[in-house]
Amino acid sequence: MRVNPAEEVEHAMREVKNFINGEYRSSSAGKTFDKLNPCTGSLFAKVHEATREDVDAAVKAARDALDGPWGRMSESERGAILHKVADGIDARFDEFLAAECADTGKPYGIASHIDIPRGAANFRVFADAVKNFATEAFQTATPDGKGAFNIAVRKRKGVIAVISPWNLPLLLMTWKVGPALACGNTVVVKPSEETPTTTSLLGEVMNAAGVPPGVFNVVNGFGPDSAGAFLTEHKGVDAITFTGETRTGEVIARAAAKGLRDVSIECGGKNPALVFADCDMDKAIEGTLRSVFANCVQVCLGTERVYVERPIFDEFVERLARAAADFTLGLPDDPRTDMGPLVSHEHQQKVLSYYQLAVEEGAQVVLGGGVPEMPSELAGGAWVQPTIWTGLPDDSRVVREEIFGPCCLIRPFDTEEEAIALANDTTYGLASAVWTENVSRALRVSTAIDCGITWVNSWFLRDLRTAFGGTKESGIGREGGEHSLEFYTELQNVCIKI
Ligand code: NAD
Repeated sequence: MRVNPAEEVEHAMREVKNFINGEYRSSSAGKTFDKLNPCTGSLFAKVHEATREDVDAAVKAARDALDGPWGRMSESERGAILHKVADGIDARFDEFLAAECADTGKPYGIASHIDIPRGAANFRVFADAVKNFATEAFQTATPDGKGAFNIAVRKRKGVIAVISPWNLPLLLMTWKVGPALACGNTVVVKPSEETPTTTSLLGEVMNAAGVPPGVFNVVNGFGPDSAGAFLTEHKGVDAITFTGETRTGEVIARAAAKGLRDVSIECGGKNPALVFADCDMDKAIEGTLRSVFANCVQVCLGTERVYVERPIFDEFVERLARAAADFTLGLPDDPRTDMGPLVSHEHQQKVLSYYQLAVEEGAQVVLGGGVPEMPSELAGGAWVQPTIWTGLPDDSRVVREEIFGPCCLIRPFDTEEEAIALANDTTYGLASAVWTENVSRALRVSTAIDCGITWVNSWFLRDLRTAFGGTKESGIGREGGEHSLEFYTELQNVCIKI
């Protein structure tokens, strides 16, 4: 009989506790909340909700650990431990994979290639990068002719609050925790209430790798009046790094303003793809299929607006719709699965409300637009159909608001200038994709789009040394390579008069 690894995890990890000072702790108020399996709607885990006292304890543990062995280690010593953390994730790959897929419903094919390997890579990359992160020195002329030297000393920032979302839980959390720890900080992580399991599991890996107690802490719960707010408003936190919705980002920025704490904010997008008639059509279809539907496009970098040059518009719409219509919806561990469910019923309702709104706003529904028929054992899951619209007005809400579901609008354009204007007609500025075989056009158009990252003839190809982040309502600051290390350190200038 085939054993579903998601079920194994369901039994092994039914209680998700907070991880404070190197040990798993129940909610001090005995409060738990339910985590449902998004594929079936059945109860998957009881999660211990951290109280204000639990968050206090986690922040205190993190502060104490700053001055403990962690703070006294050299970069190389810390780096060696972080490599062991990465090795520990690799060694328990199947467990992390099953936990991530059970929490999110995403196919094993995606999580085994992206989420879990990147979770490990985020520790290795930053453990190594920090060793080559230079500081600056200036020689200054003085009236007495003797001069002075200025030497910048790079220091850790302190206790970092990490607030992470549900769409790429392990990947996005470690994207922050990896560089924060490599720079000598300690962290308190508040994972999304929808996806707490892999963050909790990471506590065991930290202990096994020799990370001292208090360096990595996890508090579970919600945002307002819960662990998220208790943590971001906590006076013992020196900086906050957040990934999530723009509206939440604004709340976090306000919390960070109190005490003038530094903040890094990565938010949503309404990302465009521009498909020119001189593109390689096969590549453009394959890439757009991924950027619109991968992980049910619960990816901040996913494409929700596709603009196609008029001569190839009909062919493009027809081919994209035909390919998406062939998707198999199913369980994460079924190798035939192309698309899983959405993360929760709440998110399903949000996406379905946009499906209805699109029709009200005048869309022609080329594909999907509702809830698929699923076998009875999956009928309780948060499923939606892959959906494609044409004919939506540029000012409609469906074209302007982030939906975060497997859907896109496709609209024709006639000139390069029009395409650029359409791409930039948004309050967001996270990502974009440009499909053309003309190098000059690729450079012209990609640099004219106001956003943090543009892919030309590809999508989601990430080099972790490069800058990552958004413009406009998509965020503040950059992560990746030196940009992450910059955020997680403070420069102190020491001026020495000769
Ligand atoms: P969300 O903003 O609802 O929640 C994110 C986290 O913030 C969760 O842990 C949540 O509990 C916490 N939170 C909510 N309210 C809070 C408050 N008042 N105080 C403190 N914490 C609070 O986002 P989500 O629904 O989990 O994630 C989806 C969103 O994230 C989308 O908008 C997506 O585009 C965005 N996203 C952006 C990036 C990026 O790198 N730019 C990456 C992934 C996701």
